[in-house]
Amino acid sequence: MIKRKTGILFVISAPSGAGKSTLCKRLLSEVSGIEFSVSFTTRAPRSGEVHGRDYFFITREEFMAMVNRGDFLEYAEVHGNLYGTSKSFVEEKLRKGMDLILDIDVQGAKQVFSKMKECVGIFIFPPSIEELRKRLIKRGTDPEDVIEKRLKAARWEIAQSHMYHYWILNDDLEEAYQQLKGVVLAERAKRERMELTWNI
Ligand code: ADP
Ligand code: 5GP
Repeated sequence: MIKRKTGILFVISAPSGAGKSTLCKRLLSEVSGIEFSVSFTTRAPRSGEVHGRDYFFITREEFMAMVNRGDFLEYAEVHGNLYGTSKSFVEEKLRKGMDLILDIDVQGAKQVFSKMKECVGIFIFPPSIEELRKRLIKRGTDPEDVIEKRLKAARWEIAQSHMYHYWILNDDLEEAYQQLKGVVLAERAKRERMELTWNI
């Protein structure tokens, strides 16, 4: 009787270490009908990361060739590496009615917001910069100088958070997760995203 017109594009950003990956992983494992858009990057893989699951790890030359072909919905340089989202992957999935999560930085989000008017922007906040530092140290994936670079970037990223439709504070993980899931489920029920099919 009613159905959604297309899939929904969720654009999720946060300062590095705020808990975005943790929240998104749980969402993807517990909520059906939503997939992760695997980005292309020139960054070296971290230990445990898998090509094709976490990122497509490519060279700068390969990345620039994709830029020149117009393969990216958006791309940006973040912390010295290039990252981009495949345009054809996103368009195909949304057309088929699949919801998508883009875990991208604020520069990329700005490009997506201007091109995809129906998308939903979600910004995840850490409780404080000090707590962010603690989480990055605890995660143990980045050397000290990289952590300092990411903390400096965090202040600038937070200053861009007004572009987003939803703000979620990730202090208590469970509470933040329930809010994120709530946003996804509520967006799915928006009348503007639906149509009557009259097959009563
Ligand atoms: P991001 O993807 O935003 O860079 P992660 O999901 O990797 O961040 O989280 C960074 C670190 O903080 C991880 O070690 C994670 O287990 C931890 N973490 C995430 N959310 C919380 C929270 N609410 N409270 C305490 N630690 C958290
Ligand atoms: P990391 O190297 O820690 O995995 O990611 C660093 C930053 O790059 C994060 O803020 C992440 O959201 C962002 N990022 C990951 N993929 C993309 C992408 O395809 N486009 C853009 N613009 N940013 C991305």
